Amino acid sequence: MDFASDNTAGASQRILDAILAANAGPAAAYGADSFSAKATELLSEVFEKEIACFLVATGTASNALALGAICPPFGAVFCHQESHIMEDECGAPEMFTAGAKLVGIPGHAGKIGGEDLAATIAAFPRGAVKQVQPAALSLSQATESGTLYSCEEISDLAAIAHGAGLEVHMDGARFANALVALPCKPADMSWRAGVDVLSFGATKNGALACEAVIFFDPAKASSLPYQRKRSGHTLSKGRFLGAQMVAYLEDGHWLGLAKTANAHAVRLAQGLAEAPGVRIVWPRQANEIFAILPRRTDTALKAAGALYYEWSSRRFDAGIAAPAQDEVFVRLVTSFATLSSDVERFVAIAQGRA
Ligand SMILES: *Cc1c(COP(=O)(O)O)cnc(C)c1O
Repeated sequence: MDFASDNTAGASQRILDAILAANAGPAAAYGADSFSAKATELLSEVFEKEIACFLVATGTASNALALGAICPPFGAVFCHQESHIMEDECGAPEMFTAGAKLVGIPGHAGKIGGEDLAATIAAFPRGAVKQVQPAALSLSQATESGTLYSCEEISDLAAIAHGAGLEVHMDGARFANALVALPCKPADMSWRAGVDVLSFGATKNGALACEAVIFFDPAKASSLPYQRKRSGHTLSKGRFLGAQMVAYLEDGHWLGLAKTANAHAVRLAQGLAEAPGVRIVWPRQANEIFAILPRRTDTALKAAGALYYEWSSRRFDAGIAAPAQDEVFVRLVTSFATLSSDVERFVAIAQGRA
């Protein structure tokens, strides 16, 4: 019963098979191979637009490289205060931008509100030499609270950002889970809503290690080949990244994987909502559930071997009562590899039936 994260799962068999198939014979090095070219072609089809695409091995590199391309060293990146770039990347965005400042904005359920965004940007006046200059907005979809921005909300936030001369980045580590949940078209959730650069995640949803930095205006990507290389993210045997992305996208494999992950989360959330004393904190919208468990339930689940993380109460901002002494605030994540039998066992224990 592993609900610790979606990266505790392995890789999908189809993607592993594609890596093996790409192993037969030589291929051009450093991403000049046919697999990587095919990946760009498929991503262009998926997003209904000519794009510039750079494959890397981690989401942190993807975010940091994307921000490095759109934000100068004296710039400010506006993001949610709990965002991955703010909390979980060890300063990579600051390093790859050569020193830009991340400005965290509070907001309910992991989401930034329009008024808060506008007010925060306004606190960094253009031309005020003592302050960093507004350069980018970074949105996470799905958010770090497992919630989603609607396409309209993304549009509204992007309009505020563009109006102030900012570029818009999206951290799409869970882009597929968000996409199939809304549901909507990839273009509508990205460039048509005003996203300029997207970190398109594949690893958490079934790749071995593959993420794409996607520029919807290829002209803005001119520095990326050099930035990727100097950061050590231009893989010598780049074909294996390309092969992963091709297998991920072909025949809608990525959508199927995300639907499976989300369906497990639906069932888990439903079962927990019916468990005595359990409170769901933020609405479950993709493949993550944040819940407050009675400590005895937590103890019983752990005794049965269940794995999940206790979540910091510092991050608690729900419209429901904060966790009490005899309660535990936890995060549960499902993946394409989650087993229904594990979900059912977990629910049965939480409901006191096992
Ligand atoms: C997992 C994750 C990433 C990428 O993390 P890596 O461990 O560097 O691959 C980025 N953003 C969010 C929101 C994530 O959950």
